[in-house]
Amino acid sequence: MRILLVEDDALLGDGVEAGLKQAAYAVDWVHDGVAAELALRNGGYDAVILDLGLPRKSGLEVLAQLRRAGNRIPVLILTARDTVNDRIKGLDAGADDYLVKPFDLHELTARVRALIRRAHDAPAPVLRIAGIELDPATRTVRHDDKLLDLPAREFGLLHALLLNAGRVLTREQLGDALYGWGEEVESNAIDVHIHHLRRKLAPDAIRTVRGVGYMIAKD
Ligand code: CA
Repeated sequence: MRILLVEDDALLGDGVEAGLKQAAYAVDWVHDGVAAELALRNGGYDAVILDLGLPRKSGLEVLAQLRRAGNRIPVLILTARDTVNDRIKGLDAGADDYLVKPFDLHELTARVRALIRRAHDAPAPVLRIAGIELDPATRTVRHDDKLLDLPAREFGLLHALLLNAGRVLTREQLGDALYGWGEEVESNAIDVHIHHLRRKLAPDAIRTVRGVGYMIAKD
């Protein structure tokens, strides 16, 4: 899962970026509204965390433009304290949720999980498919009731495949879900992660669709 973080406050942005990465999200962080629009045009994000007070272009303008263009990506806005009006304007401009600064990082990641879940029409927080059980909140995976210890990338990869069960994801889509800008990615990184996941789950847990990518079949 890949998140776009739009925040001009360096200290706050640092904390949020670290918190999201710890929760196994790939994060791209931009610092102004114009950079946010560029990033959003390229796409590939599962959610946006958008500060409203930004240089060059306000978060409200970025949001309004995004929705005018028909983009349905989940957006959580960050607003300053005592600005009820900003929250109302933000929600009316198309935000899905908001948090008032200062906020707790655990609350932020919980809200992001909820947004992504709703965007995928997944009513249950815990994903259970093909004998695999993945809980995004506790970052745990069980297979046939056995607890698996997965590194962040393998967890992220499995999460993306399960959320999109029944659909083929290309290597490029999976790469987008796992790696932020500027991260070194070996050309066969996705195949290596898949190899490790199959070894830990079952050889046939993840299907290869030749020339396209990978998928987990729906039950
Ligand atoms: Ca700001």
